[in-house]
Amino acid sequence: MKIRIVTLGCKLNFAESSALMNTLIAKGHERAKAGEEADVVIVNTCTVTDTADKKDRQAIHRLQRENPNARIIVTGCYAKRDSRLGISDSRLRIIPKSTETFIPAYSREDRTRCFLKVQDGCNYFCTYCAIPYARGRSRNASIAEVVRQAQCALIEGAKEIVLTGVNIGDFGRSTGETFIDLLRALDDLQPDYRVRIGSCEPNLLTDEIIDFVAQSKHFAPHFHIPLQSGSNEVLKIMHRRYTRELFAERIEHIRRVMPHAFIGVDCMVGVRGEKQEYFDDYVQFIQSLPVSQLHVFTYSERAGTRMLEMDLEVIPIAERERRSKILHAISEDKLQTFYAAHRGEERTVLWESKKVTSLMYGFTENYIKVSRPYDPKKVNTFEKVIV
Ligand code: SF4
Repeated sequence: MKIRIVTLGCKLNFAESSALMNTLIAKGHERAKAGEEADVVIVNTCTVTDTADKKDRQAIHRLQRENPNARIIVTGCYAKRDSRLGISDSRLRIIPKSTETFIPAYSREDRTRCFLKVQDGCNYFCTYCAIPYARGRSRNASIAEVVRQAQCALIEGAKEIVLTGVNIGDFGRSTGETFIDLLRALDDLQPDYRVRIGSCEPNLLTDEIIDFVAQSKHFAPHFHIPLQSGSNEVLKIMHRRYTRELFAERIEHIRRVMPHAFIGVDCMVGVRGEKQEYFDDYVQFIQSLPVSQLHVFTYSERAGTRMLEMDLEVIPIAERERRSKILHAISEDKLQTFYAAHRGEERTVLWESKKVTSLMYGFTENYIKVSRPYDPKKVNTFEKVIV
């Protein structure tokens, strides 16, 4: 049968779709080519926000139209949370994925980079978040399994591995291992590659991990840390497991041992109970942090989450958007400051395969995007450059 998989959402979904396609090909099925009608279309959905749910429904409708004879299978996070999806079609089957087992997976974004799933699920149940209901409890592959998958990706030619999961710092919960031991095991696979750690909760990004990255051979000085709010009152409402003081300490530690590290920070705005004074406090705090970029998310109500049962002020949508704009502007300033601070330094770029007009692009170890005239011989190679 000819199969098409359409993926929405995060890197974890992409990794899982890629593993599913490989399994189906191994069972004798074929990948439908671009423009060709498929016998089966699998839609791997996301449910992180309201907009994600909407995009899922739009994609399903479009695929039904484009593939009038195909059987449509909907799986992924949205399928798990809403088993009817409000769609009726006799060709449609909804198969929520398992929230019990750990399914190993990795995907290649292009020739250079591989997203390697090391962990799934979450036990934290932050009050605004629907992910634990969609992906189940925290579980992980064993270190031996992750190393085996990483080696496969490197043999296939990947040069950069991005460790991916829902709450990757919680790695080890189901195997009795630790995240730091996983990092140690991934630091000596072959001479020529690098590893980035995906988003890691601040309470789990220990000083030991930061010091390890600073002296490691292959780990990039690049951190992605969810702050979500810079107000301790709002962090409490969210049931986050740290204070802003702990967060600031982590950032200070990174800057002390890796002044050139790229630090991206997830920030949410407009959650219930985020009073104006709390938001002002949040803005002041974030301005004081020497981070490189903010990833700003606007809160949207998610059915089934605890925040909806709490007696809290609801922030109007227009005000949520205003707050989002304020943080976006701060983010742009921080990014430009980071670039300016490191201009003229020597770094190592990994050139990617994409050609845009006559240029090719790549990222340095500390995530600065650089370009040069396209040269096919450079694709998927490391090169020292002055940024
Ligand atoms: S740590 Fe919190 S925000 Fe992240 S997936 Fe778990 S419950 Fe959601």
